[in-house]
Amino acid sequence: MQRLHARYPFLEAARETVATETVDLATVVEQERAVVERARQRVITALEDGEIGEPHRDPRTELLSYPVARVLVSMVEERVLVRRYARAEAETAHERFTADLESTTELKSVESTGLELAELLAEFDLEETVTAESVSASASTGTGAGPGSGSGTSTGTNTATAGTTGTTTATDPDNADRFRIDVGTYIPLAADLWDDKWGLVNQPLTDGEVPVEKDDLLLLLREAIRDRIEDGLPFEVPTTIGDPLEDAADDVREVLANLDLTREIDTVVPELFPPCMKSLLDQVQKGEHLPHHSRFAITAFLSSIGMTTDEIVDLYRVNSSFGEEMTRYQTDHIRGETSPTEYSPPSCATMQSYGDCVNKDDLCERIPHPMAYYEQRVDDADDDELEDWREGDSDDDDDDSDDTESDSSGETDTSSDTPANEQE
Ligand code: SF4
Repeated sequence: MQRLHARYPFLEAARETVATETVDLATVVEQERAVVERARQRVITALEDGEIGEPHRDPRTELLSYPVARVLVSMVEERVLVRRYARAEAETAHERFTADLESTTELKSVESTGLELAELLAEFDLEETVTAESVSASASTGTGAGPGSGSGTSTGTNTATAGTTGTTTATDPDNADRFRIDVGTYIPLAADLWDDKWGLVNQPLTDGEVPVEKDDLLLLLREAIRDRIEDGLPFEVPTTIGDPLEDAADDVREVLANLDLTREIDTVVPELFPPCMKSLLDQVQKGEHLPHHSRFAITAFLSSIGMTTDEIVDLYRVNSSFGEEMTRYQTDHIRGETSPTEYSPPSCATMQSYGDCVNKDDLCERIPHPMAYYEQRVDDADDDELEDWREGDSDDDDDDSDDTESDSSGETDTSSDTPANEQE
């Protein structure tokens, strides 16, 4: 059993190793306490610290703990656990392969645990859609067509990195200076990355390809790993495997309950909203006219934190020129119920560019996205701070609603909205 598989258990080859070398998982969970303990630690550390803990010294135990951890996640059957666990596994993998790729070839051959970038691309069928290039750089003033410049230009000599140009030649990924990714591959990989720089509008797309530096390619690979790990979770667990794991699953449930992370998915606590969304919500409740980008932002935000179309539409009723049919249609469109795309709220950079970023506080300095702000505030909150708005007095009469004040449309115009995969 290769140490590489223990280090990267999401690899297809690792899965095959488990399938061929393991008697059966029911026997493992019944008889190998070290595997169960490491699996338990894997999941709990993912919840508590966003990583998977120290690897077990025995590669076999370490490798087998991965499928057992997936069983535990499936037994608990909470979406937030699936997300947190997959994110932690992917984050750990990213740290490991970043270190592997930086280590010398000599060390890799000694340790036999290193992963080549070419292997990683092949693992996710990206060899054809990611092109590796080397650039024989020469000094230049640089006209700035690197990632994120937004120039959208490309020249025959190509731009390597800011300040250098040179002749570009195709090369193997492990010796490449930079990469080009087919846009159809890029979009899903970048879909859950919140920072604006990942948006297609901020990429110098050329001939259907997005140029990326190596660090960014590695982050996109982390996303591919996260997708793979999340894929298929939770699954139905046979009782022969589940029964011996009940105690470990209870431990995970207890940690989850104490962290109370389930609330983050579907919790509406306006006091914890980011300042920008508080301000927009306040304007909606006062029946004030909002420009379409602002209506889009607050509608997408409310939808993302769990509000239904009915609940969102009700908010807009205070507007004197409220049109239910159109508001409902546009809200459903943003939610992806009448469109192929579920739209995400805009990032902080987009909010700033539209003038919707207001009243910034300290936390704003540390996050790239209003959703990240809210998630953090909810995570940090005590239970008594978390009364869901919808569970209080449903018809709050102290919320400044004033049916007579408005003179505007109250509709959620989606004409300038951007799909989630372009926002994040
Ligand atoms: S920094 Fe981001 S979260 Fe904070 S107010 Fe601005 S847009 Fe909102």
